[in-house]
Amino acid sequence: MENCIFCKIIKGEIPSYKVFENDKVIVILDINPANKGHLLVIPKSHSETIFDINEEDFIEVMKVVKKLSRIFEDYDGLNILQNNKEQAGQVVKHYHVHLIPREKGDETRVFFKWIPKKLSQQEFEEIKEELKKIIELL
Ligand code: 5GP
Ligand code: ZN
Repeated sequence: MENCIFCKIIKGEIPSYKVFENDKVIVILDINPANKGHLLVIPKSHSETIFDINEEDFIEVMKVVKKLSRIFEDYDGLNILQNNKEQAGQVVKHYHVHLIPREKGDETRVFFKWIPKKLSQQEFEEIKEELKKIIELL
């Protein structure tokens, strides 16, 4: 995809700190890491979000996420996150998964803790029923 920074990295037109590659996926260091060792797992074929990535690429990405997570098994923590669309914080419009290793006292700020919305029992019931109906049709 033209003008896609990750496609350019994949094609080697822009340099990156690449740590892993197979025929479907590359893994690079995030240039603005939340912590040392912050990785991006990226499918080589361009898609934008969870909504348009094909199942095969999604599975290949997730296999690599699972494999590389082992690097961080002995760390104090590991955040795995993936943003879809601007409202959810997506900046680069090429699907990717973040692996952010965590150590005690690292002062890394990954998530803003949300302010819980108060839902009534009726609202929980309504959304549950609505979602169940939609899920049956998926
Ligand atoms: P998003 O907010 O879209 O989930 O995350 C995009 C990530 O890509 C950001 O963490 C940002 O630092 C990283 N990024 C943006 N441009 C580049 C780049 O040119 N090279 C690398 N390695 N990472 C990039
Ligand atoms: Zn792309």
